[in-house]
Amino acid sequence: MAILEIKKYPEKVLKQKAKPVTLFDEDLQALIDNMIETMYAAPGVGLAAPQVGKSKRLAVIDISSKEYKYPLIVLINPVIVTCEGEVEFEEGCLSLPEYTAKVKRAETVVVNALDREGKAMEIEATDLLAVALQHEIDHLDGMLLIDRISPIKREFFKKRYKKSQKLGK
Ligand code: ZN
Repeated sequence: MAILEIKKYPEKVLKQKAKPVTLFDEDLQALIDNMIETMYAAPGVGLAAPQVGKSKRLAVIDISSKEYKYPLIVLINPVIVTCEGEVEFEEGCLSLPEYTAKVKRAETVVVNALDREGKAMEIEATDLLAVALQHEIDHLDGMLLIDRISPIKREFFKKRYKKSQKLGK
């Protein structure tokens, strides 16, 4: 296993719509294992393939904490089939270091996806897991959390980013 380089805003791969996974071969299994290791090392609660430079519809999620145990999820070609309610969480993203913003998302989602062997599964999720699923699926559609906030906040983010580049941070 290996820790992969996490692509940061404004890398182009993060803006691309990722392609469906069609081949469940050894290369895919190795990529999944490396993404899991990279997510835990970061540490983060989720990581999508575009974030490691692979434009594939694949993400890994583990929202477990000391208080809350939840199994690791490997999500392939996910589709949100139902959305209900609304919640707002302070979200961060490994591709947007040192940035968080409140994002409104559906409170409950049902997601159809394939597991790492290519078997169909359905996940029903609320709150934090629902938010994590929506955040990672956004990555597969070339969306970052800054695309989900108000235009004013987005401009503020971009200004701050440009400033940090000038300072060479
Ligand atoms: Zn993210």
